Amino acid sequence: MRIVLLGPPGAGKGTQATILSEKLGVPHISTGDLFRANIGQGTPLGVEAKKYLDAGDLVPSDLTNRMVEARLGDADAGSGFLLDGFPRTIDQAEALEGILQRLGVKLDAVLEFQVDEDVVVERMLARGRDDDKEDVIRNRLRVYREETRPLLEHYKSLEVSVDAVGEVDEVNGRAMTALGK
Ligand code: AMP
Repeated sequence: MRIVLLGPPGAGKGTQATILSEKLGVPHISTGDLFRANIGQGTPLGVEAKKYLDAGDLVPSDLTNRMVEARLGDADAGSGFLLDGFPRTIDQAEALEGILQRLGVKLDAVLEFQVDEDVVVERMLARGRDDDKEDVIRNRLRVYREETRPLLEHYKSLEVSVDAVGEVDEVNGRAMTALGK
C-alpha cells in the first residue's frame, strides 16, 4: 500500500507509522527522520536543513522533494510506503504527484490523525526532542495550520480519518480498520 499520513506535529504519526510499517510490510519514510539523520551525519543536506528544523520552519521544497524522490526510488519502497511528514504543502503534494507518475504508481490512501492542539503541545513538551521547545512548537503548529492543513481538502477523495487520542494500540486498531485491514 502507498499511504500518506497527515496530522499536526505531535499527533503520534511516527509512533503509529512504525507499527503500521511492520503490519503492512512497507517502509516508514519520515522526512523529519531523514533530515535528522543527515544532520547527525553532517552531510551538506543536513547542514543546510538544520537551521530550518531548529526554528520549526519548513526546509525549502526543492531540497525536500529531491530527498523524497531519491528515497521513493529505493528498492524497498517498490512495493509500497508510509509517508510521514511529506507532503506538507500543496506544492509538495503536486511534486509528489509528479514523482509517483514517474514511478508509475498511485497513492492508495491518505490517513489523517485527528487531535486537538492542546493535546499535541503537551505531547511534544513531554517528548523533549531538540525542536520541542515551546516557541518552536508554536511555530510548527502555525506552519501546520497555514501550509499543511489545506492538504485535507486537497486529498479529500483519498482520505480516511482516525481519532488519534487514546492508547497507542487502540489508535493503531482504528488506523488498521480505517485502511480496511
Ligand atoms: P517532523 O519530524 O515531521 O516533525 O519534522 C521535523 C522538521 O523537519 C520540521 O519542523 C521541518 O523543519 C522539517 N521537515 C520535515 N518534513 C518536511 C517537509 N515535508 N518539508 C519541509 N520541511 C520538513
